[in-house]
Amino acid sequence: MSRPRDARLSPAPDPNREPRWRKTALASTPKLDPSRLREENRRVLLNLIWSEREISRAELARETGLARSTVSAIAAELLETHLVVELGAGDSSGGRRPIVLGFNDEAFGLLGIDMGATHVGVAVTNLRGQVRSWMKRPHDVRDDPAGTIALIDTLITEVLGATSWTQNKLLGIGLAAPCPIDPANPNQLSTLVLPAWSEHDLVGTLRTTYGLPVYLDNDANLGALAELWWGAGIDCDDLAFLKLATGVGGGFIVGGSLYRGAAGIAGEVGHLVLDPEGALCMCGMRGCLVTQVGTVALVSQAEHLLSMGLPSTLRGNAVSLATLLEAVHTNDAVACDVVRRAGRQLGVAIANLLNLMNPDRVVLSGGITRAGAGLTEPLIEMLRGRALFSARAKTQVLISELGASGVALGAATQVLAALLNETLETQTLTLKEAS
Ligand SMILES: [Zn+2]
Repeated sequence: MSRPRDARLSPAPDPNREPRWRKTALASTPKLDPSRLREENRRVLLNLIWSEREISRAELARETGLARSTVSAIAAELLETHLVVELGAGDSSGGRRPIVLGFNDEAFGLLGIDMGATHVGVAVTNLRGQVRSWMKRPHDVRDDPAGTIALIDTLITEVLGATSWTQNKLLGIGLAAPCPIDPANPNQLSTLVLPAWSEHDLVGTLRTTYGLPVYLDNDANLGALAELWWGAGIDCDDLAFLKLATGVGGGFIVGGSLYRGAAGIAGEVGHLVLDPEGALCMCGMRGCLVTQVGTVALVSQAEHLLSMGLPSTLRGNAVSLATLLEAVHTNDAVACDVVRRAGRQLGVAIANLLNLMNPDRVVLSGGITRAGAGLTEPLIEMLRGRALFSARAKTQVLISELGASGVALGAATQVLAALLNETLETQTLTLKEAS
């Protein structure tokens, strides 16, 4: 899944590089019959209006090389969908002032559901990736499918209530799941990871209940997608996103699109083996990254250091990620040591990732990133000795700024990508009904 360029959000564009929509249009045009050609032209114009936000028909014709009459006819169709609106007269270079067309970010709403192993979050966004409402509750998703589905329904009602948008305004639902999604079965949750869900068709249930298209993907993939469209990856085409929590997930963007691998497993950074003789992982292997930097590992390392008698403000209470991070901010020696070790282990894993994949950006998210420099400084130090100079020279390691709703935003973004790509199921029907 790739996103069109947003000229206003990107820093200085590379003059040698053509916008992606143009390359696609030129590459596919010769093979198209007349009706497909019109659809393709409409897709190109819709994307250009979205990325430029404001543009006249004459500028559209100039940018795309399409005839003015073709642009006008397609613009009339787009105005009917309410996705595009007329904004009034723009500047003239002589002669009549042109009417400027704009993309209507508020025309429709998108729902993003972030279903983790132990939480459910639901966001509603506009068509520019702005989260209008976001709610999250802890829940035993892994073992309670019926309760999870009920909670999703409740949260959808609540987020819509908070925006005063009705269900009719929604274009589709994006769903993030805490398991790999097999490209051969794109609507199914993995029963290996979520065995209790084997009798439940979540995508089908949501489709039936809400009468909307539903798009499912892995949660870390959708975190990566959110960074590509709206976050740290907005001006790059190759990024690795790491979600550091109870588990450690990863999502890869390669050449501007999500890379899933043959069976949807790509990005399972948490099961990179760092120590073949290490602790047993839930996956059955030993010494995986998650056994060293997952939340359970961090807590047990802190408890181990406390048992050795080291002075610490953590002593006397149950250690959790929250208390650990609080202690890091007061320079507690035990907490800082745990985070430093995690940074070093992550550094080893990311060094391997840089040598393999050479991304522009590595974006870290999840609770432990709140430790800030305490985590990233030892991490970057480890890269120096372990990643090839040329593999790390241009790579930035950043902490995500999208916040807790990032994965839900990525889930909703799947719907926007389908809309702009004109592949949204029942697109014509939905848009006309909503008008
Ligand atoms: Zn493992």
